[in-house]
Amino acid sequence: MISDPLVFAATSDFAGKMRGKAFPASELEKRLARGIGWVPTNALITCFDTIAESPFGSLGDLVLIPDADTFTEVDFKDGSPVERFVLSDIHTPEGAPWFGCTRGILKSALDRFDRLTGLSVNAAFEHEFQLKAEEARLGEAFSLQGLSRWRGLGETVMAAMEQAGLKKDSFLKEYGRSQFEVTVKPEIGVKSADSAAILRELVHMSVRRHASAATFTPIIDPAGVGNGVHIHMSFLNSEGEPCTYAADEPYGMSQVSARFVAGILKYLDSIVAFTAPSKISYARLTPHRWSAAFNNLGYRDREASVRICPVVGQDPASIARQFNFEFRAADAAASPHLLLAALVHAGCQGIEEELSPRTPTEEDLSQLSGEELDARGLYALPRSLEEALEKLGANKIVHGWFPEGFVDLYIAHKNGELAKADTLQGPDLYAAYSEVY
Ligand code: GLU
Ligand code: MG
Repeated sequence: MISDPLVFAATSDFAGKMRGKAFPASELEKRLARGIGWVPTNALITCFDTIAESPFGSLGDLVLIPDADTFTEVDFKDGSPVERFVLSDIHTPEGAPWFGCTRGILKSALDRFDRLTGLSVNAAFEHEFQLKAEEARLGEAFSLQGLSRWRGLGETVMAAMEQAGLKKDSFLKEYGRSQFEVTVKPEIGVKSADSAAILRELVHMSVRRHASAATFTPIIDPAGVGNGVHIHMSFLNSEGEPCTYAADEPYGMSQVSARFVAGILKYLDSIVAFTAPSKISYARLTPHRWSAAFNNLGYRDREASVRICPVVGQDPASIARQFNFEFRAADAAASPHLLLAALVHAGCQGIEEELSPRTPTEEDLSQLSGEELDARGLYALPRSLEEALEKLGANKIVHGWFPEGFVDLYIAHKNGELAKADTLQGPDLYAAYSEVY
């Protein structure tokens, strides 16, 4: 068959989807300089392909400007076309960053952190996904049999990551039915979110080639396990030395880490609409499923919104390099760029407010009354997307972190998603999200 290769210029949008346009690979040089046309209302395309009420209507023009550093080319060598795509920034035709560009928003959040601390954020994304239900078998949780049955898939994913230049960390048969976890090693700044966005696509491409289908949906069935996205974070100074750990501080958290984490936990109710942004995300953010249901810090505890992760060995220099904390109240309905931007801004706010370090919780918080939680500075996370959007809409501090009008635009998008989601009941709603993600 005749063929002329295409490159897809992609933006990770408000729905956490990679959307964009393709152009002939022969024009890559030209497109890197001039971009490809885009429109403001694209930001209002919901995960269900409906268009939320748009303040722009049919008006306006934008440009997707591909970033050559993110060019991804994967040849699966199965006779199918080579996959080629490149992440892009959204600019105005005059060349300024557009206020609704998720990648641009992350860059500004990272700049704020750099101005405040002189440090960079080193982040690793851990993703869980599931294969279609009919391929599930009992007894495969964490098992060699489970891995072996899907070894071919795991090794295709690893090879695709290698070709794409992603740093492979691990692949495991997770606890849930047909559930897997794939983790990339940490990357600095925007590259970490770029890698997460690329990884999700590589998994879909790989699974499809194994005659199956994957979903990163936050949860397939409210009675089962969820698919989380856990973001491991640490900080590096300009010499690349770790600054997250302080041996003498409680739980090893350096001052900058403790304040950053306190900021995330203080503002979590107002930013969870960015990190767990689908209607069904809130079925996952409930107690006793190793996700997160309160704005608590955990010390090596997997039921916490932020967990201080374990380190191996006794050597202080090695501990400092390994030391990191993990944000767990996130899922793959979120754009990795937007979710990381929200976390970094909340962390910066914690640093600016000089918040006190949080004390890790050790008990089952679902057993405490509202007053008991209150007395300890804790709260239950919003129980629905509607509630999370209300908190976001009402928090003027959070609005101020983003370009003018951005939060309202995001809320308009999410209201469009809810309008469609509200027409679906029970299993149909979960099935629709499984298909989308
Ligand atoms: N599946 C859990 C979640 O929804 C996480 C399990 C784990 O700790 O890896 O986040
Ligand atoms: Mg896991």
